[in-house]
Amino acid sequence: MYEKTINFIKELYGNVGFVPLSVPKFIGNEKKYLDECIDTTFVSSVGKFVDRFEEVVAIYTGAKRAVACVNGTAALHMALMLAGVGRDDEVLTQALTFIATCNAIIYTGAHPVFIDVDRNTMGLSPDALKKWLEKNAEIRNGQCYNKRSGRRVRACVPMHTFGHPVLIEEIAAVCAEWHIELVEDAAESVCSRYKGKHTGLFGKVGALSFNGNKTITTGGGGMILFMDEELGALAKHLTTQAKVPHRWEFRHDFIGYNYRMPNINAALGCAQLEHLDEFVADKRQTAKEYADFFKNIDDIYFFTEPEDCFSNYWLNAVILKDKKAQQEFLQETNDNGVMTRPIWELMNRLPMFEKCEHDSLENTVWFADRVVNIPSSVRL
Ligand SMILES: *Cc1c(COP(=O)(O)O)cnc(C)c1O
Repeated sequence: MYEKTINFIKELYGNVGFVPLSVPKFIGNEKKYLDECIDTTFVSSVGKFVDRFEEVVAIYTGAKRAVACVNGTAALHMALMLAGVGRDDEVLTQALTFIATCNAIIYTGAHPVFIDVDRNTMGLSPDALKKWLEKNAEIRNGQCYNKRSGRRVRACVPMHTFGHPVLIEEIAAVCAEWHIELVEDAAESVCSRYKGKHTGLFGKVGALSFNGNKTITTGGGGMILFMDEELGALAKHLTTQAKVPHRWEFRHDFIGYNYRMPNINAALGCAQLEHLDEFVADKRQTAKEYADFFKNIDDIYFFTEPEDCFSNYWLNAVILKDKKAQQEFLQETNDNGVMTRPIWELMNRLPMFEKCEHDSLENTVWFADRVVNIPSSVRL
């Protein structure tokens, strides 16, 4: 039934037999920088690559400060804490996301509330956000509270799904009106821009991920982005066990975290970043070829970047007619050497989060029943 599509994807990736979903590409200075770490023994918490990686990511994104972390989940956890999220607060986010978004919220002791996504971006809907707040929230002493639970609504975490920027300016405006901190989960959207501005820079803090399946990788790794330099300095302190600088003394002034990125991972990151623009240009070309192909295929719609956006097209996505078609497409592609995956199981359907508050989730459920990710690796 999907033979034409399967053949097209195989051809796109050079008829190699099996086509994976998303694998990393190492074509630059990776080995050279890693050798340097090993030769100098600076593989861990000391070495020049962490500082260099943070500097180049800050310059690349336009952030005032970037702080490297062991992974994107840790980066997001730290970002939420720096936004002031704590025990028994509520955090508004998407049910349509990777579990890390929710786990990071739970680590702070806060409760996630799931808001519907937008049909054009697959990310948090500013309209649904506004509607939920108007119905359920009130401002008391300049702070936002959930009228029913009585809890403080502290932050909102939109996620740029598959690298496609959400309507971030509208979300930021709603957050400002309701005195809620904006924390962007930009784990999937390195290089993606909204009206020319890099994702992750619209709120108080943003988090990137450099996991092995992302657009560029450090093996495992993440980065917190800041427009506020002082907050960035605090993040650096807290992610490095809150150790007070001294030549030999062990003095710590907060409960810190061992969230620092090792030098060996940062070395990989420095090499990968040198090719980021090239990788994204390649991924956008692949997306264009997919878009052209699926124009002529009935009942499969290729998801393209929203208006005013530049997407990294981290993972390409198609929308099938219904749940039955989605399952058939998954079966046939995976049976025939083309790796595809359904979009994540919705957070509110997982046992840990099924009691969490949510709105109608109308578009969320619509996407969950139809979306499949198709091969997206760089083809260079
Ligand atoms: C990848 C990802 C993260 C962070 O994941 P790590 O594997 O910890 O780097 C967070 N949120 C989303 C939506 C992601 O896709």
